[in-house]
Amino acid sequence: MPENIRLTSRDVPLIQLGLHQCRFPVSEDPTVPGGYRFCAGSTSPDRVYCDHHHGIVTAVDPRRTRSGLHPAQRRAA
Ligand SMILES: [Zn+2]
Repeated sequence: MPENIRLTSRDVPLIQLGLHQCRFPVSEDPTVPGGYRFCAGSTSPDRVYCDHHHGIVTAVDPRRTRSGLHPAQRRAA
């Protein structure tokens, strides 16, 4: 694991991603294996994205709210 991990996006290719580095693709780069560069920000052990991108990913999926089911949005069972 490199020691110069920053909290901001670094645009690194997939092969350079560490275990707890954000896997959110931030840019295309046909010169690297996989064709994308990734954020590589530090993540929590149970997440694959940094806090910033975790918020983006969960925000676009209405089923994954922060606290689980939203009572007001539950349909009658
Ligand atoms: Zn990220």
